[in-house]
Amino acid sequence: MVYNPKIKLDLKKIKDEILNCKKCPLYKTRTYPVIGQGNHQAKIILVGEAPGASEDKTGRPFCGPSGKILDDLLKSAGIKREDVYITNILKCRPPANRNPLKDEIEACTPYLEKQIKIIKPKVICTLGNFATGYILDRFGLADKVQGISKIHGKIFTARNFKIIPLYHPAVAAYNYNMMEVLKKDFEVLSEFSY
Ligand code: URA
Ligand code: SF4
Repeated sequence: MVYNPKIKLDLKKIKDEILNCKKCPLYKTRTYPVIGQGNHQAKIILVGEAPGASEDKTGRPFCGPSGKILDDLLKSAGIKREDVYITNILKCRPPANRNPLKDEIEACTPYLEKQIKIIKPKVICTLGNFATGYILDRFGLADKVQGISKIHGKIFTARNFKIIPLYHPAVAAYNYNMMEVLKKDFEVLSEFSY
């Protein structure tokens, strides 16, 4: 794909906004915000929930235990991590990894939406219930929202991209049997990776 320098500038603008953001109280307790990482012209965007402890310390998405699982899943699907773009619903870590609050999601998701507009992926892969509920609802598929155990691995069509909900990789940290289910689900991404 032809490299488009404007994309870098546009994403840099979002980065600067997030670094200075005080739109919800999470900026007070975080170390670093986690903005996003990966290919700026990725065909696939992966959307997680929120930074955990390792991500908060480094500013990088999925760099702790869930990240290790995600790396294994991408690898087994034949996808290079540097070819996708990885970000989260919330850019700052909720204290003690509690669930995101409605107000926090509302305050923070305009950043995610701008990232999506700039990167223009073919696929938005939502990891877990929070990302899935938000993205399906936001892109006109509220009637399709169900628990992730019901809709993981399904392909939904929205505007000019697909939405594919998958289990959050952290589920395999608690229950390794889930790894096989996750691996099978991630295979569906490989057909969109080129
Ligand atoms: N879990 C997430 O949802 N996102 C991260 O970046 C790390 C763990
Ligand atoms: Fe701003 Fe999002 Fe961080 Fe809240 S979580 S302070 S909205 S960047």
